[in-house]
Amino acid sequence: MVRPAGQGLRDRLKAAIPESLLIRDLGPAASRTLLFTFDDGPDRDVTPEVLARLQAHGIRGVFFVIGAHADAAPELLVESHRQGHVIGNHTYSHRAPDPWFGQYFKDVQRCQDTVRQHLNVTPRLFRPPKGHLSGTSLVVPRMLGLRTMNWSLNVRDWECESPADARRAAERLVREARGGNIVLLHDNRPLLLPLLDFALPRLVAAGFDLRAARGPAVS
Ligand SMILES: [Zn+2]
Repeated sequence: MVRPAGQGLRDRLKAAIPESLLIRDLGPAASRTLLFTFDDGPDRDVTPEVLARLQAHGIRGVFFVIGAHADAAPELLVESHRQGHVIGNHTYSHRAPDPWFGQYFKDVQRCQDTVRQHLNVTPRLFRPPKGHLSGTSLVVPRMLGLRTMNWSLNVRDWECESPADARRAAERLVREARGGNIVLLHDNRPLLLPLLDFALPRLVAAGFDLRAARGPAVS
């Protein structure tokens, strides 16, 4: 397949961003570890079901919450944290694409304040809306003491529109998972649930360590 020039350039740009500014993968030392990350919650319908599935398999991940959604369902923020998951910052309003620097700063800071207010915990990890990387989206979190984390495995769960789509995404997740991967998922999408039902037991049976949120890579 011939890649459009823009995509290749974007990949090269991402590859040029140093690890100190952007975590994309847990690296070769994490040879059997997978880290699940869930963006865009909490969601009253989906997040409790996700938590139940993670708990059933002893899996711990990172929830990159939207501050406005956390304000709407703070009990889910508290419960996710109580169950051992890491809470990350995904801005307050999921503003995209890249807005003016001052707006972006306020949006990231407001999500920090929201999580602190409900949990008395200060997030250490940040994911920009849509994973969008720019000078602003890399520098602002650093100013607020956050490390930016994107992902190395994306099965496009948010595009699923039917159980058949979710099954295909789940099969792809099982097929493509490699040790050290950071997996992008969304806990505001109901079709995530059949995806997890298919993939989780298979990844556990394949011997992956799915408790990465407690490891040194993510603290
Ligand atoms: Zn998002």
